[in-house]
Amino acid sequence: MSPSTEVAVRIGAAAAVFTVMAFWEWFAPRRRLTAGRRPRWPGNLGILAIDIIAVRLLVPTAAVGVALIAAERGWGLFNILALPAWAAIPLGVIALDLVIYGQHVVFHYVPALWRLHRMHHADLDIDVTTGVRFHPLEILLSLAIKMAAVVALGAPAVAVLIFEVLLNATSMFNHSNVALPPRLEPVARWIVVTPQMHQVHHSIERAETDSNFGFNLPWWDRLFGTYRAKPAVGEQGMTIGLPIFRDIAESRIIRLLTQPFRNAR
Ligand SMILES: [Zn+2]
Ligand SMILES: [Zn+2]
Repeated sequence: MSPSTEVAVRIGAAAAVFTVMAFWEWFAPRRRLTAGRRPRWPGNLGILAIDIIAVRLLVPTAAVGVALIAAERGWGLFNILALPAWAAIPLGVIALDLVIYGQHVVFHYVPALWRLHRMHHADLDIDVTTGVRFHPLEILLSLAIKMAAVVALGAPAVAVLIFEVLLNATSMFNHSNVALPPRLEPVARWIVVTPQMHQVHHSIERAETDSNFGFNLPWWDRLFGTYRAKPAVGEQGMTIGLPIFRDIAESRIIRLLTQPFRNAR
């Protein structure tokens, strides 16, 4: 696949999922928003623009490039074992998802990393734009971790591309303010992290914040005991966000960028 096709696939998939979810939550919202869209969307989408610039300009080769180099030089587990593509591609996607799950747990428990990640949690509502609201330093750090994982695994370039497109799509999907039908949702959350499952992770209650770390595959939380079916006070009663940074002015882009370096009063 040529680099321009790769970019077209990424942008096309992301724009399509964003549009579908934005319309869905507009017409059938799961919760009433507390702060609403108007004060939040400029900041959240501004962060997305900065993240795109940070990743595309500072790290042009990125994870797919590293996968191509690893394949050429025979680096990494899958290349050493000479796994066929039909095995290496799905295993690569699943293993990268486990790495991202582990990284998410670490970002919650290491204080310096939590400072970066808590900006994602400080959003007073969750909707499709929360799914792209990550501090640029967290984006760069997680890219470095992902690149190291790709080399260690020897994951094929196509697996990396599938994983990144999928992760982007599921992140927008499971942050959306939508509800899957009650009969479908309990089944769906065995296959993919659903919006009702991820919203527990955005509860103001710390024990609930520290649960449901998965973004994509829901199995890791069940396997490692971090799964929580629903918030203690119920889906509609739960408060979203953190005990800190609750002023609506914290939704501005400058405040979002400086949150990691400020102590909450
Ligand atoms: Zn988190
Ligand atoms: Zn989240």
